[in-house]
Amino acid sequence: MDLYSGYISRLIAELSVLPGIGTKSAQRLAFHIINMPKEQVEKLAAAMTEARENIRYCNVCFTLTDSEVCPVCSDASRNRKQIMVVENTRDMTAYERTHKYEGVYHVLHGAINPSLGIGPADIRLAELLKRLQGDVDEVIIATNSSIEGETTAMYISKLIKPTGIKVTRIASGVPVGGELEYIDEITLSRALDARVEL
Ligand code: ZN
Repeated sequence: MDLYSGYISRLIAELSVLPGIGTKSAQRLAFHIINMPKEQVEKLAAAMTEARENIRYCNVCFTLTDSEVCPVCSDASRNRKQIMVVENTRDMTAYERTHKYEGVYHVLHGAINPSLGIGPADIRLAELLKRLQGDVDEVIIATNSSIEGETTAMYISKLIKPTGIKVTRIASGVPVGGELEYIDEITLSRALDARVEL
């Protein structure tokens, strides 16, 4: 027998698939949603559906965006010869918040992680190499300082070295294992300024 109504159980089950949401949190959220005004629930549901339906990858840097080319790639004042490689859109946003970086980005959508079976072909590396056939002065590797992030950084640097393009890695101001999106703007700016050539 269902402890709650079937509808509530289903809502709890759907919510608990979200990252970081255990059964208890899912229950709390479910009851909160049920008590919200109906219009607000409709807005929330619509925001989720519309985001999923309309968001796409930028044709140039592969970040998640609403248009064919994202606002950063469409901005004529950005330096297209400098490409910062990040693991995901959240990390790109973290760097954008510093207002210190004037180049463009390349979003990998992951990092190499052999234990999860994620190899170089599973992230947007081929797309990065293709971009490097253009006029590029520097590739700044800003993957996270986790084992996966470091593995990915090493892999990319070895891949790019033969092309003669300068490859740098953001400095260790970023704590080991630290995820970029949780690091404050000043630390990120310093890590960028103190980047080292690989
Ligand atoms: Zn873009």
